[in-house]
Amino acid sequence: METILVLTHADETGSALSKASLEAVTAGQELAARLSAPLTIGILAVDAKAVATSLPSTGARLLGVSGEAFAQARYASDVAAVEALSRAAQATIVLAPGTSRFVRVAASVAHRLGGFIDTHITALGGAEAVEASRWFYRQRVEAVLSRDARPWFLLLDPGTHAAFAGEHGAAQVEPVAVELPALRTTVSGFRAPTQDAQTIRPDAKLLLVAGAGWTKKQPDGQVHAAEAGKLILGFLHATGASLGSSKSLVDQGGEGEPVLPFLTHMNQIGQTGATPRHAKGLSTCCHGEEPHVVGWRFIGERRAVNLDPNCGWARGKADVVYIADAFQVIAKVNALLEAGKA
Ligand SMILES: Cc1cc2nc3c(=O)[nH]c(=O)nc-3n(C[C@H](O)[C@H](O)[C@H](O)COP(=O)(O)OP(=O)(O)OC[C@H]3O[C@@H](n4cnc5c(N)ncnc54)[C@H](O)[C@@H]3O)c2cc1C
Repeated sequence: METILVLTHADETGSALSKASLEAVTAGQELAARLSAPLTIGILAVDAKAVATSLPSTGARLLGVSGEAFAQARYASDVAAVEALSRAAQATIVLAPGTSRFVRVAASVAHRLGGFIDTHITALGGAEAVEASRWFYRQRVEAVLSRDARPWFLLLDPGTHAAFAGEHGAAQVEPVAVELPALRTTVSGFRAPTQDAQTIRPDAKLLLVAGAGWTKKQPDGQVHAAEAGKLILGFLHATGASLGSSKSLVDQGGEGEPVLPFLTHMNQIGQTGATPRHAKGLSTCCHGEEPHVVGWRFIGERRAVNLDPNCGWARGKADVVYIADAFQVIAKVNALLEAGKA
């Protein structure tokens, strides 16, 4: 019989579990119920008991590693903590959220325990045995994996499960001791871009995609790149949306054409870019060619604004296409959003 461990860690406030961790809890609960297997949840935090208040209603055994050393992500301390939790749980299946914190250490722990690891898991199935799904070749081919090797570590892609939301209450957490190696890395703090500078927001409900049309000649024969930048940033500021881009737009910088200074290749969506998960997406000034649209695979509801009624979006790739000038549409939407706030 399988025994299941879900690994979790605190979010950046340190006072609650991260959203991706709570998603892994949901995945663990569903798998444990399907296999009739016992479930353990391992917690990594400064104070594991304090962040575990959302977990008692899972009915799972709770194991915690606590201490100031775990306030920040650091390879040496995190790998020791995850190894200690995994050994204490004696689990055959270990689920962990694919956060940067766990992605960095999970393969090492799997190796130390003589186990195996698979990453980017999007779904867990199987009635008798565990079957894990992941996508290959830029989300074009879906594979279902099963393995005999145990322990089997599975890193779950964030956004693939609903976050667990149970009754809060006092939790019984069994403390797990960790023998820390000499720590050579000290974390002196975080330096993060300001809200407006950070345009990639994986947790946003909405994705706004900017295409090359924003910096092309408009019907008046002129390029309006500065105005385009203002409109896009205004929309992001008012909605908290994440910003994606087509490849043509982010490539333009290298070709000496007008660019939007806040865009980098990190914003690129598509076959050679990212495949984000947002509930809704709005494409603007982007043609909607297949190598771009393949990156929209996991966007729930798709809308596009394009001047061209024959654009790719109009050929079944979007739920709604507005044949309109995106400069006018976004200016109007921004004005309505501002008026709504006032
Ligand atoms: C191997 C390979 C991999 C690729 N990978 C990717 C990838 O990962 N991501 C990606 O994006 N592309 C990728 N591409 C490129 C892709 O095929 C397209 O060339 C690219 O997506 C086009 O970008 P675009 O739609 O922004 O630009 P364009 O094709 O130039 O389209 C601009 C659009 O803007 C519209 N427009 C202009 N002004 C306005 C206005 N005022 N209002 C509304 N609409 C307006 C126009 O009608 C036009 O449809 C790849 C290509 C190859 C060959």
